[in-house]
Amino acid sequence: MKEQQPLGISFHERHIVHPGASVDLGKVDAGDKAGLKKNDQVEEEMDRLRAELDDLQERFYAWDKRSLLIVLQAMDTGGKDGTIEAVMHGVNPQGVNVTSFKTPTAEELAHDFLWRVHKAAPARRMIGIFNRSHYEDVLVVRVHNLVPEEVWRQRYDQINHFERLLTDCGTVILKFYLHISKDEQAKRLQERLDDPKKHWKFAAGDLKERELWDDYTAAYQEALARCSTEGAPWYVIPANHNWYRNLAVTSIIVEALKKLNPVYPPLDPSIGKIVIS
Ligand code: ATP
Ligand code: MG
Repeated sequence: MKEQQPLGISFHERHIVHPGASVDLGKVDAGDKAGLKKNDQVEEEMDRLRAELDDLQERFYAWDKRSLLIVLQAMDTGGKDGTIEAVMHGVNPQGVNVTSFKTPTAEELAHDFLWRVHKAAPARRMIGIFNRSHYEDVLVVRVHNLVPEEVWRQRYDQINHFERLLTDCGTVILKFYLHISKDEQAKRLQERLDDPKKHWKFAAGDLKERELWDDYTAAYQEALARCSTEGAPWYVIPANHNWYRNLAVTSIIVEALKKLNPVYPPLDPSIGKIVIS
C-alpha cells in the first residue's frame, strides 16, 4: 500500500501479518513506539489523521459503493473500547455501527457460529466495527473447550471463506489485534480495582482468564497466522501505549480508505441546470 508518511513510518508495513507468515507474539514488543515520542508532532499528526478520517468517511458514505469492516480483538483490558472512542471521535456517527459480541445467547448458539456475525456485517456505505468478533469462536471457545477440537479446527477455513464472501461483495476488512504485555494487563486490572470510575469494568472472571494467558496467546497466534489474508489482513498493534495504538490504527484505516478513493457522486445529469428561487 502506498502511504503518505509524515512521520516517516508506514504503520501498515510495520504491523501487518503477511499472509502465510507465522506469528510469535513473544517477539513483538507490546511497548513498541516505532521510535516515536508522544510530542507535539505526534499529536498534530493524530489531529490531522482524525480530520482526514472524518472527511474520508463523509465521502465514503456519499459514494455508497463499498463497506468497511474493522475487527478489534485483544486480551482483557487490551483497549478495544478506548480505540473505538479515540479513532472514531469526530466521525459522523450516522455512518458507523459498533457491534460488541458477548457470550452467545441461546438463540445464537442454536445457529452456526457465523450467523450473528453475518447479520452485523456493515451495509454498503457503512463502517462496521466489531468489538470482539467471530474470532472468539477460535479463541475463548478453544481455550475453554466449549466445542470439540474437530469443530473449532474447521473454523479457520470457515472464517476465511466467510471473509472472502464479504470482500468479494465489496467489503474492505481490516483486523487489529491490540497487543498488550501481561505486566501491562496487571496494571490495567489494578486500575479497574482502584479507580471508582473503572470499577464497573472489572469482572472477577478477568482474573481467571489472566491465568490462561499462555493458552490465549497460542490461540491468538494460530488465528492471526491462519486468517491473515490478502483481502482481510490482520495487524498486530503494540498497545501498551494508548497514543501509539491510536495513531497506528487510525493511520492504517485512513490509508485503506484513501486507497479506495471514494468520491462525491455528481448531480444526476437529467436534473439539468436549476436555480432555486
Ligand atoms: P472489556 O474488555 O471492557 O471488559 P469485554 O469485551 O470483555 O469488555 P465483557 O462483557 O466483559 O466485554 O465480555 C464479553 C465476554 O463474551 C468475553 O468474555 C468474551 O470472551 C465472551 N464471548 C464473546 N464471544 C463469545 C463466543 N462466541 N463464545 C463464548 N464467549 C464469547
Ligand atoms: Mg471484559
